[in-house]
Amino acid sequence: MNRQDTLTFLKSHSPTVLIIGGGINGVGTFRDLTLQGVDTLLIDRADFCSGASAASSRMAHGGIRYLENGEFRLVREAVQERNRMIQNAPSLVQPLPTTIPIFKTFSGLLNAPLKFLGWLEKPSERGGLVIKIGLIFYDAFTGKTRLVPRHVFHGRASALKKYPRLNPRIRYAATYYDGIILSPERLTIELLLDAEKEGDHARALNYVSLVGVNGDTVTLRDEPTGSTFNLRPQLIINSAGPWIDGTNRTLGLPTQYVGPTKGSHLVLDNPELREAIGDHEFFFENRDGRIVLIFPLFDKVMIGTSDLQIEDPDSARCTEEEVDYFIEMVARVFPGIKVSREQIVFRFSGVRPLAYTKAKNAGQITRDHHIQEDKLGNIPVYSLVGGKWTSFRAFSEQVTDRALAFLGLPRKADTKSLPIGAGKDATPIKTDPQYTRGEIAAIAKREKIVHLDDLLLRRTLLGYLGQLTRPLVEELADSLGESLGWDGLRKQTEVMRTLEILADRHGVKL
Ligand SMILES: Cc1cc2nc3c(=O)[nH]c(=O)nc-3n(C[C@H](O)[C@H](O)[C@H](O)COP(=O)(O)OP(=O)(O)OC[C@H]3O[C@@H](n4cnc5c(N)ncnc54)[C@H](O)[C@@H]3O)c2cc1C
Repeated sequence: MNRQDTLTFLKSHSPTVLIIGGGINGVGTFRDLTLQGVDTLLIDRADFCSGASAASSRMAHGGIRYLENGEFRLVREAVQERNRMIQNAPSLVQPLPTTIPIFKTFSGLLNAPLKFLGWLEKPSERGGLVIKIGLIFYDAFTGKTRLVPRHVFHGRASALKKYPRLNPRIRYAATYYDGIILSPERLTIELLLDAEKEGDHARALNYVSLVGVNGDTVTLRDEPTGSTFNLRPQLIINSAGPWIDGTNRTLGLPTQYVGPTKGSHLVLDNPELREAIGDHEFFFENRDGRIVLIFPLFDKVMIGTSDLQIEDPDSARCTEEEVDYFIEMVARVFPGIKVSREQIVFRFSGVRPLAYTKAKNAGQITRDHHIQEDKLGNIPVYSLVGGKWTSFRAFSEQVTDRALAFLGLPRKADTKSLPIGAGKDATPIKTDPQYTRGEIAAIAKREKIVHLDDLLLRRTLLGYLGQLTRPLVEELADSLGESLGWDGLRKQTEVMRTLEILADRHGVKL
């Protein structure tokens, strides 16, 4: 159905579940619910993934610093989810080496006990010892799969040898691994389109707002035309992120579930800085314990983020003071590299939908997620509070399980290892991640391949550049064979033929 057909259909049909908000939590829940066959409508008053989900620092991460708050459940879950994203959406989420420059040794040891006693106003800068302890825990959470390597600690001399532009005053540098979400916006759309492929029970509309309520009937407005229509779903899921309380107010529910904080980022065109960071993210804190990151984003550098309390999420903008702050932070870590305002090619700001709390320091507020339940007459309204981009799948699963229990339906499918969008075809070849199974399938389909050596010697440069190994030849035979309909015997014959040609004509013995 196109947009107009869907709008017309909805005038006479109420979905079982209405999801309000098409950020990552709404879309993740939409995918999970529709996978179970539940008739679901998702709406967003703006474009999909245009709120907090577009403003994130793009890190698929466990959040090493939350260990200090004793949030082991959150970190363990997020690390597992990070690994799943790398596996399920490999073209969009990739391992990211992350380096922490460290200026002190013992500082920060008291942060965790003071926080536990409720006496911590502002954390002090974390020194080498605290960071080392944190990284040991963090590695342990990655589990047996070891999808990303363990951390490495460098002393001053070796750190400066590896990153010569770093501030010579550092005492150590620690490198560990997280993930980068190259395009959160695309990942969200891929999830949404996957859900719609489940069938006509899955419908999603952007630029449709919730505008009113009458008893248990909600009114929605199609923004481009201004026309309104009414629905009576059995369950409402409020995934409006930082706008959750405003959305509940529209439903006649006076709640105070979120205490949003603003975070801004800059994108810089600064080739010198880009070269200095290489393929590493630099993750560090300023003197009052606030986290800053410098991030390679294709040929640009991204810098973020601030964490400032804010009343109205619509007013979030990256201010000149924040720009000054970021420029100062780069100078602290890379003092020899000049950053100027003219190099800023893009800036953005967004609001974290954090759980409401009286905590004084924004960085101390939990990033964990939970569901708040209210009632609109007999209709439950679930508000999805808090959470991280990284843990969207686990949060969506939690919400879906609750919705299924309410609707009296069984769970039919699981999302833990479900590939996302292009990830289905983009699963990298294990022995050579520069190629994906999808690419091999496309070459097989379009490029008149008859034998395995056509692929290895002429459609790619793998043979030419000495990149072939026996396991790679076998894996590619398997992948190519799948596309060309080869059975096991044919795959083996093709491998033998290729090995003979390599040895006989090219002096390559595998
Ligand atoms: C600065 C910043 C940095 C972050 N960095 C990271 C990070 O590196 N890693 C990480 O894991 N997490 C990070 N996060 C957290 C993560 O981005 C959020 O937790 C997550 O995106 C929240 O998604 P959401 O779907 O709940 O909300 P949103 O993405 O805000 O979605 C809510 C949607 O609801 C819509 N809406 C609102 N009102 C209505 C209405 N009345 N009718 C219809 N639609 C409505 C909005 O248009 C919006 O699209 C960061 C967040 C911020 C702000």
